[in-house]
Amino acid sequence: MSNESLKPFRNIETPGYVGFANLPNQVHRKSVKKGFEFTLMVVGESGLGKSTLVNTLFLADLYPERIVPDAIEKTHQIVKLDASTVEIEERGVKLRLTVVDTPGFGDAIDNTDRLKPLDIEFMKQLHNKVNIVPVIAKADVLTKKEMLRLKKRVLEEIESNGIKIYPLPDCDSDEDEEYKEQVRQLRESVPFAVCGANTLLEVRGRKVRGRLYPWGVVEVENPDHCDFIKLRTMLITHMQDLQEVTQEVHYENYRSERLAKGAPVPKRQTPSVFEEKPPTGDKDRILQEKEAELRRMQEMLAKMEAQMQQQQH
Ligand code: GDP
Repeated sequence: MSNESLKPFRNIETPGYVGFANLPNQVHRKSVKKGFEFTLMVVGESGLGKSTLVNTLFLADLYPERIVPDAIEKTHQIVKLDASTVEIEERGVKLRLTVVDTPGFGDAIDNTDRLKPLDIEFMKQLHNKVNIVPVIAKADVLTKKEMLRLKKRVLEEIESNGIKIYPLPDCDSDEDEEYKEQVRQLRESVPFAVCGANTLLEVRGRKVRGRLYPWGVVEVENPDHCDFIKLRTMLITHMQDLQEVTQEVHYENYRSERLAKGAPVPKRQTPSVFEEKPPTGDKDRILQEKEAELRRMQEMLAKMEAQMQQQQH
């Protein structure tokens, strides 16, 4: 892809800023005024680069005291959800980000495929509950050709397993051309092949975040090197749509499913962007609900891993 065709992605690059303040005005005025809550769960086996990516994306060190277990410990490790919440404020725009990392997820299972059966199983279990954004980590270890082949394979597997991933919304016909082009390029790049790095390096007089190799530097924010900027653009410009799809599609499906079974429907977890903020006294309740949600997720993961292990024997 030529540099010219990637022009829309250059516009939002503001060093040191994530870019919420650059959310398109007409759509996000309300969110900008009130702030909103966005929950991001990063799932994948240990060592994949999840925490590095999250730190690179949101410039916040979520795991300053993380202890990485050694190999022997890992085989006995149970899946444990590990939630970390950070609040980020940029030029008056507030964003609460809860990152749920699953260390140990799939670690003890021996398989050499790229897309692991556990990844597929996980996506199958969750695609009706959350928005799935597939990401290929450590893009710097693959050549361009290998990367294209892998992207194709990942999409084929997702499709053949009937997994629904987050569909970027269709553009209105009166949307400006630059935005349409950006959405087209984002769509074309799925699954996003990204690199993460938290080191600032100097490249030709510029300070960049990158990974230094004996032969050169992989620049995380260089669209010619990986899709990091595209992933970040996607998360930021479509954050409100991601949230609305969760509430209007996933939550509603869940609600009608529960009602059909005659089961009680727990209250919605995430307050809507357009609802008033809860009084401070409600904070404890919301935190408790969030913890309960995480516990449910944890139980589900543990069950899935046990099932997968059984199938392997
Ligand atoms: P996590 O267990 O999935 O959270 O993985 P970490 O973020 O702790 O990263 C595991 C290892 O992979 C560390 O040594 C990182 O420096 C390295 N790593 C992270 N991101 C990348 C990447 O994009 N490319 C390469 N080559 N290594 C990476």
